[in-house]
Amino acid sequence: MIERNIPFSPPDITEEEISEVKDTLSSGWITTGPKTKALEKKLAEYVGVKKAVCLNSATAAMELSLRILGIGPGDEVITSAYTYTASASVIHHVGAKIVLVDTAPNSFEMDYYKLKDAITEKTKVIIPVDIAGVMCDYNKIISIVNEKKYLFKANNSKQKSIGRVAILADAAHSLGALHKGKRSGQFADISCFSFHAVKNLTTAEGGAVVWTNTFGMTDEEFYKEFMLYSLHGQSKDAFSKTQKGAWEYDIIYLGYKTNMTDVLAAIGLVQLKRYDDLLIKRQNIIKIYEKFIDKKLIDTIKHTGSDFKSSGHLLLCNLIDFTLEERNKVIFEMASRGISTNVHYKPLPLFSAYKALGFNIDDYPQAYKKYVNEISLPLYSTLSEDEIIYIATSLNEVVNNIKSRGIN
Ligand SMILES: *Cc1c(COP(=O)(O)O)cnc(C)c1O
Repeated sequence: MIERNIPFSPPDITEEEISEVKDTLSSGWITTGPKTKALEKKLAEYVGVKKAVCLNSATAAMELSLRILGIGPGDEVITSAYTYTASASVIHHVGAKIVLVDTAPNSFEMDYYKLKDAITEKTKVIIPVDIAGVMCDYNKIISIVNEKKYLFKANNSKQKSIGRVAILADAAHSLGALHKGKRSGQFADISCFSFHAVKNLTTAEGGAVVWTNTFGMTDEEFYKEFMLYSLHGQSKDAFSKTQKGAWEYDIIYLGYKTNMTDVLAAIGLVQLKRYDDLLIKRQNIIKIYEKFIDKKLIDTIKHTGSDFKSSGHLLLCNLIDFTLEERNKVIFEMASRGISTNVHYKPLPLFSAYKALGFNIDDYPQAYKKYVNEISLPLYSTLSEDEIIYIATSLNEVVNNIKSRGIN
């Protein structure tokens, strides 16, 4: 038997990315400059919006968005209990109160009824999470915030211009996903993408923000806000300062330091050029998985439907009627067959830091139910058909064995 070693999510880097990085390294300009600007332009075109801002992570993109909207102490921001910590930690970082909403029964998405109930007169922003690259129902979320408009209290001119709770999509997984014919980034007021090493499109570390609403400003002005917040509130970036005689700058406010570098943007430029092909590969892999996974034992998240197509980021599976111990045993058995798997996500109220903030998993029964028997399978563009079949059939066998013989 061949010794297998299948990683969970290695990056797909070709000679083309390497050569673009080399080109940047030898160009004389390695931090934010022409390549970052080119990536912003190409991304905005790809998403179908006017402008994009590239930053050093999706986390930075979300935090700066909250800061630019003037969110802080006394405000509440709602997100899902079933997500990565970054969706919620940014709320805490700006000084606002984290409000977590449970998932809908048998779903990885926030429960929209509970979301509506969670909106109070302190709510300023909702952060929906496009989990696994499947977009949330943004039309529904927009109608919910419009219904509860009467509660909204604006604290500044940007909030006044929108006149309702703002929608800030955690689109870390969903670049390229479609919903009712529109791409991720075209629904929410602001959407944040991640280019972390395990994401669909990577720059090693990186992220971007796009918007459909400029909160009473022009696109140019809103873009400028992100430039200032991401680079020390400095009126000129380092590249502009290299222009002849243009040394002088002002510090308009005490900003942050979250800009993208040209070395990393170079990777992103090539990844974006290859992205349509990468997405097709992901959807094909999902189709093969769906063909081989035993549906009597295992539920898999739906990546396509009549009016949507995901970005195929993660293959979330639920092992039907399995306990937490049985699920963990499956992960162990898969690892001994050379297959790395993962869990997305351990609900936030189960972590020490969230317990210390007062969250209790008993208040999130649906999220807990999805978590206990969840397992995520390897899903990436360089996975071969032979490997996919090996993973799927191994999972069927392991699950069947535990079902018939128990975990001992
Ligand atoms: C990866 C991820 C993030 C954070 O992205 P970074 O670019 O690493 O900051 C946020 N939310 C979700 C759901 C993620 O998976």
